[in-house]
Amino acid sequence: MAKVKKYVYSFGGGKADGNESMKNLLGGKGANLAEMAGNKDLKLPVPPGFTLTTDVCTYYYQHHRTYPSTLKAEVNKALQLVEKLMLRKFGDAQNPLLVSVRSGARKSMPGMMETVLNVGLTEKTIPGLIKQSGGNSRFVYDAYRRLIMMYSDVVMEKAAGIEPADEQGIRKQLEKIMAQVKKDKGYKNDTDLTAEDLKKLCNLFKAKIKEVLKKEFPDEPMQQMWGGIGAVFASWNGKRAISYRRIEGIPDEWGTAVNVQTMVFGNMGTDSATGVAFSRNPGTGENYFYGEYLVNAQGEDVVAGIRTPAPINELSKSEHNKELVAMEKSMPKLYKELVGYRDRLEKHYRDMQDIEFTIEKGRLFMLQCRVGKRNGPAAVRMAMDMLKEKFIKREEAVLRVSPEQFDELLHPIIDPKAELANKPLGKGLPAGPGGATGQIVFSAQDAVAWAKKGMKVILVREETNPEDVEGMRVAEAILTARGGMTSHAALVARGWGKCCVVGCGALHVEYDKKEVSVGGKTLKEGDWITLNGSKGNVYEGKLPMTDATKENKMLNDFLNICGDIKRLGIRTNADTPEDAAKARQFGAEGIGLFRTEHMFYGKGSDEPLFLLRKMIISKTLEERIKALDELAPYVKKDIKGTIQAMDGFPVVIRLLDPPLHEFVPRDHAKLEQLAKELNISMEELSKRAENLHESNPMMGHRGVRLGVTYPEVSAMQIRAIFEAAAELTKEGFKPYPEIMIPVVCDVKELNNQLEICRKIYDEVLKKYGLKSIKHMFGTMIEIPRAALLADKLAEVAQFFSFGTNDLTQMGFGFSRDDIGGFVPDYLKLGILPEDPFQSIDQEGIGQLIKIGIERGRKTNKKLEVGICGEHGGEPKSVEFCHKVGMDYVSCSPFRVPIAKLAAAQAVLKEKKGKK
Ligand code: PEP
Ligand code: MG
Repeated sequence: MAKVKKYVYSFGGGKADGNESMKNLLGGKGANLAEMAGNKDLKLPVPPGFTLTTDVCTYYYQHHRTYPSTLKAEVNKALQLVEKLMLRKFGDAQNPLLVSVRSGARKSMPGMMETVLNVGLTEKTIPGLIKQSGGNSRFVYDAYRRLIMMYSDVVMEKAAGIEPADEQGIRKQLEKIMAQVKKDKGYKNDTDLTAEDLKKLCNLFKAKIKEVLKKEFPDEPMQQMWGGIGAVFASWNGKRAISYRRIEGIPDEWGTAVNVQTMVFGNMGTDSATGVAFSRNPGTGENYFYGEYLVNAQGEDVVAGIRTPAPINELSKSEHNKELVAMEKSMPKLYKELVGYRDRLEKHYRDMQDIEFTIEKGRLFMLQCRVGKRNGPAAVRMAMDMLKEKFIKREEAVLRVSPEQFDELLHPIIDPKAELANKPLGKGLPAGPGGATGQIVFSAQDAVAWAKKGMKVILVREETNPEDVEGMRVAEAILTARGGMTSHAALVARGWGKCCVVGCGALHVEYDKKEVSVGGKTLKEGDWITLNGSKGNVYEGKLPMTDATKENKMLNDFLNICGDIKRLGIRTNADTPEDAAKARQFGAEGIGLFRTEHMFYGKGSDEPLFLLRKMIISKTLEERIKALDELAPYVKKDIKGTIQAMDGFPVVIRLLDPPLHEFVPRDHAKLEQLAKELNISMEELSKRAENLHESNPMMGHRGVRLGVTYPEVSAMQIRAIFEAAAELTKEGFKPYPEIMIPVVCDVKELNNQLEICRKIYDEVLKKYGLKSIKHMFGTMIEIPRAALLADKLAEVAQFFSFGTNDLTQMGFGFSRDDIGGFVPDYLKLGILPEDPFQSIDQEGIGQLIKIGIERGRKTNKKLEVGICGEHGGEPKSVEFCHKVGMDYVSCSPFRVPIAKLAAAQAVLKEKKGKK
């Protein structure tokens, strides 16, 4: 008989069916609960419960939102086990068991899916819970009103697909009733409501639910539990969750698990509490226990940021909570027990853990643990510290930092001098790294709209909630008035490495006026502010930013380890001595692309550009050669400076690539100057310029085609390269130019240019009295035909450099300058998983690259292969380049460290895959 699939996994009482390795099936939370409860080294006091697997979610969506036939029996059995462990019964009038129903995907999606607490509380079980709580009927009716509010919102409205108008949701309506009761009674806080008030309130709630949703609130425990389970599965496809998955790149097929777990209460009185902690500081990476707790509160109160939590210890104190009593003082015994669990967890997981705990009437329960989110600086610090502490090996340390986190280290900070000179308007908690400056907006929608217009915004909110994620994403930074380091804003921003300050208590936000007052100032929408997310400071105005990477020893040590592990060479795309020097500082091992045409743009380009134009407009060979002779010294000077800055490393210099028409001036004065210099009429000049015009210049007279029709243009450039190298050799340097021909599609084009190259080489050797100049001659591969005929090209070329910008353009037939019109729709509709101009399309363009390398190496064993398209600094593409056996990647100077990390990780992933 075929084995029946197991859909439910129990945990608790020192045992568990599952374990940590089963994240795909049990979700992150479920797998960790199983591990915490059942692993022999942990056996932590986890409230017992069970997990419905992600397979149930898959089944649910594949079968019109129904469950496998065996599920009910499995759930009943698992529930009985919990009842046995807790000595309580679900739905029992005397001694009832209550449960929570929560989501838990493979990867954490904070606040994006639904949760229902206090499930199993009904008119019948209320007296039993009052008895359990020692007669605390206020607590019980408060739990009941929370269940009604949550359940009606999550299960009866959202999961039922009802989409009420703004402010008309059932939860809002119930909140209004509660506010009215408080007003009538003259109460200020929720805590002023008495048991009697709450009891009446619950009845009012139920009546309202009936009126609005046309259904009774279910007073039957099993119905409540299955309603909760269904709502969690349904929330996997809720708007918020989908939008978060798009941003985080989480596949839709993964699905979520559902965890049903015994409720423990942190709000049973002053001997109860709830808290969130990190085994190390997630903002800085420092090795000390860091966290917050609230006495007499439920977990959601900590995350919601409504009350300011107190620190668990002295080290967790901040400006914001320094007046509050730390847990180590108020509950020393329990704190010690918690520290013990922290140590056990770190030792077991060998990584920083994010822990949720609850104390019910003096008894500590561990609700959750997972690998804690951290920002880039903290990730590097923890990796390096844990390496020193011998928790992990070098390889593991490298894998602990994602390229995206690493990118945060390279983010700007406020110029320290400017920061010293400015007094902060206010101070909050440092929730996200680096500095940022932007214009104030007060809603997520405005953030999105303004950002679309290219404006830099800072989203200022009382607090954020999951509905704000899109706005948070596009904002330069986030600032909130309320909430702690574990509030929604802080969690999300930290995950993204975005600058963020939370809990800036001095802020007074007035949404309707679109104003915020802080430190005696009133700021309006559109006003500039600057945040220091590492210190929690808020400044008025636009402060200058600077580079954070200078002199960071830990970063350099980390990069050195990456350097030892990686196989790929890391070069840079640079065309000036300054960029080359910067890239070397970051560890670049040569230049993979020097675009000659860049010397005709920007600073100091007036003179060479004028000469280039003269050359372009020339009609006769004589005229052109004259102009080229005038231009040559500029070209040589530029090339020489850059080769010198990269001394000892190879420098790939590409001959002129763009269609010449691009350089013809449009402005009248410049045209006149050109006509005068060439001694021709304006009419004649316009005619010549018009002749250069092309309908489709990207596929027109560009790249090698220019060199074929104007060999003297190639000759001038090649001479400049060899002469620069010859002079540098004589000056004691070690130049190593690699001459690269662009936009090649046939070996005969290469032969044509090689002939020029050989001739000039001999001439330069003679001129400088040298025997040889170390160099190479090679080609770009950026046309599909070149990839297909790579075997032939490699007979002539000593190196290939994949120009994946053009290869993507020509492989897809997407004009790289015009993708704005359609690629966003392709991404939205899922036609393309990613923008192929950012991350290599491994499925299609990747094949051309593989073919190119394979065929090229077949005829030329020593062929050097690299990439110089924009993809060369994008982590996934770097991994691909490693896999297909390239020799190096080349990217912009700022991306060199990221490429280095990605290259090291590619080696480690490959090793893991082979095991
Ligand atoms: C390329 O096409 O990938 C490339 C590097 O060249 P360019 O971007 O200058 O066309
Ligand atoms: Mg190109």
